[in-house]
Amino acid sequence: MKAGWEAVIGLEVHAQLNTKSKIFCSCSTEFGQEPNDNTCPVCLGLPGALPVLNREVIVNAGKAALALNLRVNTESIFARKNYFYPDLPKGYQISQYDKPFSELGVVEILTSERDDAGRPVEWKPKRFGITRAHIEEDAGKSVHDIGDPDKTHVNLNRAGTPLLEIVSEPDFRNAWEAYDYVGFLRRTLQFIGVCDGNMEEGNLRCDANVSVRPVGQEKLGTRAEIKNVNSLRFLQKAIDYEIDRQIALLEAGGTMVQETRLWNEKEGKTYTMRTKEDAHDYRYFPDPDLPPLEVSSEWIEALKAELPELPEDRRQRFMREYEVNADESFTLTGERALADYFEATIKASSNIRAAANWILSELLRELKNSDTDINNCKIKAEDLGAMIRLIDDKTISGKIAKDVFADMFATGKAPADIVKEKGLVQITDTTAIEKVVDEVIAANAKNVEEYRAGKDKAFNALVGQIMKASKGKANPAQVNELLKARLTTTG
Ligand code: ADP
Ligand code: MG
Ligand code: ZN
Repeated sequence: MKAGWEAVIGLEVHAQLNTKSKIFCSCSTEFGQEPNDNTCPVCLGLPGALPVLNREVIVNAGKAALALNLRVNTESIFARKNYFYPDLPKGYQISQYDKPFSELGVVEILTSERDDAGRPVEWKPKRFGITRAHIEEDAGKSVHDIGDPDKTHVNLNRAGTPLLEIVSEPDFRNAWEAYDYVGFLRRTLQFIGVCDGNMEEGNLRCDANVSVRPVGQEKLGTRAEIKNVNSLRFLQKAIDYEIDRQIALLEAGGTMVQETRLWNEKEGKTYTMRTKEDAHDYRYFPDPDLPPLEVSSEWIEALKAELPELPEDRRQRFMREYEVNADESFTLTGERALADYFEATIKASSNIRAAANWILSELLRELKNSDTDINNCKIKAEDLGAMIRLIDDKTISGKIAKDVFADMFATGKAPADIVKEKGLVQITDTTAIEKVVDEVIAANAKNVEEYRAGKDKAFNALVGQIMKASKGKANPAQVNELLKARLTTTG
């Protein structure tokens, strides 16, 4: 950031709560159906239809609020937020306003700037305030016709999908803090099973409010709200762009206008969508069709007891218990399924470091290369653990293990079966290795001479020959030892 300036960022995150049915009717929330198939008089906004609150929404919202250290209010009010939009058939969205479901939370997370290669520079703990998290319904979708620019279609399958809007305090001072916070939210919601957290598919959406002010000034600057950022990386880039744009504007003597802007990833820029003059007055008022939402403190306590270990707690435990570093701990708890997989591999292998190494390097690389994820991985954690045991008990060498691993990844077969089928058992029998060593020495007189003349490279060449002759199966440590012994004793 340019010297003398400070950025202030506040985030509004919409998380789609993954219930089977919509928030105020029994329509399915499953997507990919034919347009407007998942609709009924309630979510179509037909006159006279009455909303009935889905209990599951409150359970999920409650878990999310508690996981984010928010206070859950025993009474909250559903309010109508009035505006016209073609994909909002009622002419209002049911949301919450002055009495939200939950509020006043603080989360402490690790955050770090990244170097040019995108690697974290130094993780530091920082606290961020969460103003509120309220429950609301989603709108439908307007689909602009590609074939006929005069036409726009409306798909109301999404109308009435439950959302939790999580509004932060303006506590972020750079784009990476926002990036780490939204990543934290996503992991937390995913771990407790209330939101899929897929930003590309839109079930976690984030708007960033950005302003700048001269260092030392207390009053907040005028903000711009950036909408439409559908990945964490875009969020970070959009914020960085916006900070630079605002500083340049103010330094050139311009004034900021409060406006809504859109991020254009292709151009790497934000654009004005609407200015404050077009801003809505939503005329919020309590929805007369819905009674106040009441939850008891006993219910809240019981829900709290149901929460699984949260990802940040688990990440810290991984660092403590398994001695992985901060970067590794973030990767290993990036998804609950991966964290489970890691712990199952440790259990099956009794070798923490090897389990971490195989997962962090080989496994994640192969998953990425084959465009799949841990949920669709053919290697069972128990089998990866078994493979590590085969290395540790010297049945196979580390080198052979890479081939076994590749085979396991492609076929899902158990490592012992692959080793047996392909005859990959490591040769540790000294006599057998000595035989190969002698053959290779006899056939490579030149290398032997060079080694005796002091060339270390010649030794490695001989090791290579022996490994090749044994089809990679000779135990490398024994090969080294026996070869050295032979070269110094036999003349
Ligand atoms: P709305 O967007 O509906 O007007 P709020 O005024 O509550 O709602 O603000 C929404 C978000 O904008 C919050 O996350 C808040 O922290 C953030 N925010 C408010 N003022 C500023 C500012 N001057 N600079 C940056 N963020 C801000
Ligand atoms: Mg806003
Ligand atoms: Zn419906």
